[in-house]
Amino acid sequence: MKLRTNLLLAAALAGMAAVVAPTRIAAAESGGQITILYDAFGTDVAMKKDWGFSALVEISGKRILFDTGNDADIFAANIKAKNIDLTSIDFVVLSHRHSDHMAGLNHVLRVNPTVKIYAPREGFGIYGSSLPSSFYRKDESLPPEMRYYDGKPPEVMKFGTAWQRANIELIDKTTEIAPGITLLALVSDAPGTKELKELSLAVNTSDGVVLVVGCSHPGIEKIVEAATAINPRIRLIAGGFHLVIASDEVIAKAVSALKDTFKVENIAPGHCTGEPTFAALKKAYGDRYLYAGVGTSLPLGPGVGSVGRRGEGPALLEDDLAAYRKLAQREDPFGILRAQQQRTRLSHL
Ligand SMILES: [Zn+2]
Ligand SMILES: [Zn+2]
Repeated sequence: MKLRTNLLLAAALAGMAAVVAPTRIAAAESGGQITILYDAFGTDVAMKKDWGFSALVEISGKRILFDTGNDADIFAANIKAKNIDLTSIDFVVLSHRHSDHMAGLNHVLRVNPTVKIYAPREGFGIYGSSLPSSFYRKDESLPPEMRYYDGKPPEVMKFGTAWQRANIELIDKTTEIAPGITLLALVSDAPGTKELKELSLAVNTSDGVVLVVGCSHPGIEKIVEAATAINPRIRLIAGGFHLVIASDEVIAKAVSALKDTFKVENIAPGHCTGEPTFAALKKAYGDRYLYAGVGTSLPLGPGVGSVGRRGEGPALLEDDLAAYRKLAQREDPFGILRAQQQRTRLSHL
């Protein structure tokens, strides 16, 4: 009964909010929480630690699964440990194509095969893509057997996905997918991940934007800047800031941009943010640094910074560090190999 009253109240408030500001979620409605389901640090003994990211974002009456971690079995174990029913989630957001964010998708689809999934649109990307057949040059002097599709291509050429039956909607540009809920679509320009498209989740509440980021390959500052176009007040950022090998100078610049330029109110860094950046952010944010290890739930009630566990978590184990150095070497998402190659080249000059 109480629940029903609350729902009715929420619906009434939502109606009022719609008149005043259609894309802003009322404060009373914006309560909820972000639960970290996948990361390589944390204090919850029931949760397994591994490199990667996933979070359940419960906000504005929606349950959004943001990313799915690095290993389907570990992801499944953590989902079970937190008693999360994957059949009741509203949709999944896959921030980008890196495996430490999407490997648990198979588990999600086993439990909920028709769930709506938002993923970035990339040419020949793993989530599928399409192009108008006008993209390739034609030569009408050729006989049909030497021409693509015998010279009669379909108007739109579709390219496959690794999850053929999944209900994937590809996002090309920043899109408001539900009232107040926007997927920011930005492209990385960094060596090693050039042209990688990444989605970040921005939820506009009357207390400012709650921003969830996966790996921030396009740059955390650029993502925050895009979020301020929705609402200049940024209430909270959670997720990976991609500063895991950044120099102190770069870290200091990013911290200052978040705190002084964009005046981000609360910060809950995780994943590829990096240990020295955790330290720098903790120093800059003090009480408004929200610890967000795997298993942590961050309440999103009004005055998000006033509740929940604060401060520094236990330091990462050496093992974790070794694991992500190894991972980084495999693909070079952090530009490590490129930096090393440049150093070697310079030393030969
Ligand atoms: Zn990544
Ligand atoms: Zn990542």
